Amino acid sequence: MDFTLSKEQRDIVRAARKFANGEFLDRALEFDREEKFDLDLWRKACELGFVGVFIDPAYNGAGMGFLEHSLITEEFWAADPGIGQAILSTTFGSELLLLYGSEDQKQLVLPKLVAGEAIISTAITEPDAGSDVTGVRTTAVKDGDEWIINGSKMFNTNGTIATWILMFCMSDPENPSRHERHSFILIPTDTPGFKAKKILGKTGIRASDTADVSLKNVRVPIDHLVGKQGQGFHELMAFFNRTRLHICAQAVGLARGALDEAVHHTKERRQFGAPLASFQVTQFKIAEMATLIRAARNLYYEAAWLVDRGNLDHALIAMAKWFSAEIAVRCADEAVQMHGGYGYIDEYKVNRLYRAAKVLEIYEGTKEMEKTIISRSILG
Ligand SMILES: Cc1cc2nc3c(=O)[nH]c(=O)nc-3n(C[C@H](O)[C@H](O)[C@H](O)COP(=O)(O)OP(=O)(O)OC[C@H]3O[C@@H](n4cnc5c(N)ncnc54)[C@H](O)[C@@H]3O)c2cc1C
Repeated sequence: MDFTLSKEQRDIVRAARKFANGEFLDRALEFDREEKFDLDLWRKACELGFVGVFIDPAYNGAGMGFLEHSLITEEFWAADPGIGQAILSTTFGSELLLLYGSEDQKQLVLPKLVAGEAIISTAITEPDAGSDVTGVRTTAVKDGDEWIINGSKMFNTNGTIATWILMFCMSDPENPSRHERHSFILIPTDTPGFKAKKILGKTGIRASDTADVSLKNVRVPIDHLVGKQGQGFHELMAFFNRTRLHICAQAVGLARGALDEAVHHTKERRQFGAPLASFQVTQFKIAEMATLIRAARNLYYEAAWLVDRGNLDHALIAMAKWFSAEIAVRCADEAVQMHGGYGYIDEYKVNRLYRAAKVLEIYEGTKEMEKTIISRSILG
């Protein structure tokens, strides 16, 4: 494997960094404190071609790989995780449509996501079904040429602003296998019976919308089924094997942002008559952070590279997701430590990075679930 980025990839990194540093830094504190976001920033990112680069040209995407999307994600998250998430999560679900959507579904949704005209979201988690996705109880029942959906979802990213939500529902409750009972259904959020309520008080990524969703007799046409009826669990696993790579890139970006802040601060801040960076304790922390970041990046680059070549390795993806999230938490913690009391104040970027990091070990598979996948691949 050649680890050198191509000229085109280096240009993507440069452009994403310039955009993020130019547009995010001045507004990050306001969005974080007020738990809001300005969607014009998302539209601008779409105009500049940063959103959905992995979507095929047939649907107006750039037709690049998950690696290129990761490069953008790293830069956005290094600048500000909340804004990075608010912008790049707007395509969360397109990966599933690309894999399993009908041609009509892809034509309807994907070009609008790239153009900044619509947002897609994916709702799996429920009040009583988190890590165990087979416990999802939201029902989808056929009634003539329609599906009727009833239930509730938790922690749905972009739930209050999405145009469509891919709803993970129980469609085949009688199937003897609990892995053959669920299906994805595409729901336009303006359908009667759909309600979303914003969740306030998140620890981090507060610019990103998260919602409780309820569905009461929501009716959609029968052709809104995505993929095959009863195969939702398997489709979800395939989906996560793409989207977990995005989380790796978020984590590595965040960790690198923390390292940059730590380097800058420890060179400026003087104690005992010398810059903090001159103390060996600081130097070792910086060395460890840089090494962990490099290791995490190499792990997920390899995983993304294999996916882009159609040779997916699910255990490697789980390793990359667990490891990158854990090093993000650790690097953010060390960076706050090196800032002393200043790091405890939200005006300092490092504070936002620290608060944002934890979610990486929770969403799209907790670190315990990732370790379960890894150990199963070894022990059988
Ligand atoms: C900001 C944010 C955004 C999110 N966005 C979305 C979204 O867009 N769509 C969506 O569907 N969900 C979303 N989620 C939900 C997220 O994916 C879940 O929170 C996550 O999967 C964990 O589920 P849970 O919270 O129910 O925890 P639980 O499953 O209850 O787990 C609690 C703890 O128990 C551990 N645990 C559970 N089972 C086992 C076991 N068998 N062995 C060992 N340990 C175990 C877990 O690892 C965890 O540490 C989001 C969450 C957050 C915080």
